[in-house]
Amino acid sequence: MDAHTELEDEFKESLEIGDRIMTELAQARADLERAEAALKIPIDEIGQIMHESWTQTKRTQGFHHPDEQGHGTTSHPCAKCHGDLVPWASLSERQKDINRHAFDAVLARIQLLAKKE
Ligand SMILES: [Zn+2]
Repeated sequence: MDAHTELEDEFKESLEIGDRIMTELAQARADLERAEAALKIPIDEIGQIMHESWTQTKRTQGFHHPDEQGHGTTSHPCAKCHGDLVPWASLSERQKDINRHAFDAVLARIQLLAKKE
């Protein structure tokens, strides 16, 4: 084999290696995009999960909505009354927003960790 043929073979081989690297890179990028999409939980769903979790905790602690015990707006609410103990759909926009963003810092941290992998 002369020097020229040898060089040509080496060149072809490096082209193949380059192709393999590009394919693997594209695969890795697709994997990363899938992982990122999986982490993007709709913000309303997060809010609902947070509110339901909070509701459960409050109920366990013996809290109720004023209407449930006749402790409505006309009478003075008792110490275990909480006006936000309503289904997600009935919650005020302000309270919904608090719940929607309650998980922001944790989510940002998880997304950062996923990118580093
Ligand atoms: Zn009450």
